[in-house]
Amino acid sequence: MRLSQSLIPTLKETPAEAQIASHRLMLRAGLVRQMASGIYAWLPTGLRVLTKIANIVREEQNLSGAQELLMPTIQSADLWRESGRYDAYGKEMLRITDRHDRELLYGPTNEEMLTVIMRDAVKSYRDLPQMLYQIQWKFRDEVRPRFGVLRGREFLMKDAYSFDLDYEGAFLSYKKMMAAYLRTFQRIGVVAIPMRADTGQIGGDLSHEFHILAPTGESGVFYDAALESNDGRGTPDLDAFYAAHTTKYAATDEKHDLESWSKVPDERKREGRGIEVGQIFYFGQKYSQAMNFSVIGKDGSKIFPEMGSYGIGVSRLVGAIVEARHDEAGIIWPDAIAPFKAAILNLRQGDSATGAICDSLHDKLGPDCLYDDREERAGAKFAEADLMGHPWQIIVGPRGAATGQVELKRRATGERAELSVEDALAKVLG
Ligand code: ATP
Ligand code: MG
Repeated sequence: MRLSQSLIPTLKETPAEAQIASHRLMLRAGLVRQMASGIYAWLPTGLRVLTKIANIVREEQNLSGAQELLMPTIQSADLWRESGRYDAYGKEMLRITDRHDRELLYGPTNEEMLTVIMRDAVKSYRDLPQMLYQIQWKFRDEVRPRFGVLRGREFLMKDAYSFDLDYEGAFLSYKKMMAAYLRTFQRIGVVAIPMRADTGQIGGDLSHEFHILAPTGESGVFYDAALESNDGRGTPDLDAFYAAHTTKYAATDEKHDLESWSKVPDERKREGRGIEVGQIFYFGQKYSQAMNFSVIGKDGSKIFPEMGSYGIGVSRLVGAIVEARHDEAGIIWPDAIAPFKAAILNLRQGDSATGAICDSLHDKLGPDCLYDDREERAGAKFAEADLMGHPWQIIVGPRGAATGQVELKRRATGERAELSVEDALAKVLG
């Protein structure tokens, strides 16, 4: 993509409304714009990141055996009267009345809707277990939307739901989802630690939240440092993997237990703040019973499926990653989800030798690179590339161009090297 022809409205000034780094940087790098309190437009560069994250989430959900579906954002109030949550949910629910005076709402989550879909479609024990998910916008009328996309009112969530015949099945689904989450975060390039958590509005008795550590996080977290180095890629032995990630101490402030905490060796005790980027719940028959969803068992008996639900805040993740990965100059994107893998900086726009090298790099790298072809000072191009956080910068100036050399800069470490065009390409593509 040519920067001269792209909508990337970067800002030099720090926007006054932004209190934390990720919010400032997402506005300054031209990723999002606020359209109303807690409601954001995703501009092309921001959408590239959001889509890359969603695709990794989707691939890992599919690998875990979950099936993707898409439910509407607007739901009928009657659905929520069936579960008893219509009144319980309170002011966070955005309630809407249509022209026929029917009561609707913009879905904050989808347990009810999917339970009804399953109730209509699934009648026999042979049809279970099943795990379904969607990646869809949610609305929660937060009292205090803040920190940009970290606490918005409209936000993108991956929400999955499991239906099993018994507790063992449901616990297996829970463990599979935890493994899928850890692989997802590892692939995205962030450390997210599972913590024992409260079950809140969703209800139930087994739950973990996944937290990215950042000083501006809204939750207090307490954990065993041994968890920081756990590998999230998973092993064929699901039980061992689950145990490795859940038996060491890790809890949010709501679940913090001083007695268990005292058993963690002092040198491994870590206290800090975390941003919740996902949560998984097992809640048994809470919704299947309330909404009368049962299947016929092998022996003809009536079985109310055991359920769980599993969320990842896809849009919140964008902010959380920036919060965890930035410096004075700007964002430092992990390779897997950067809007562009590399930026090509032409330091002498109009010079035929630099132009030819840039054009050929641009061709070979394809749409995943951003070519800064503007008539701008070199300093401005450097600053903007650092702000936008491309993992690689390929700097093409007239001196090097004469001998076919370019400079390659790695954003995360600041390392620079003079290389031939071919070697630079190989590094970026490697
Ligand atoms: P929080 O405690 O931060 O309000 P929650 O526990 O109510 O979140 P869940 O019901 O667990 O949220 O939703 C699943 C995921 O959706 C959360 O882990 C979070 O990543 C994301 N999420 C929830 N609320 C918001 C929001 N207002 N803005 C952005 N993402 C959100
Ligand atoms: Mg939560």
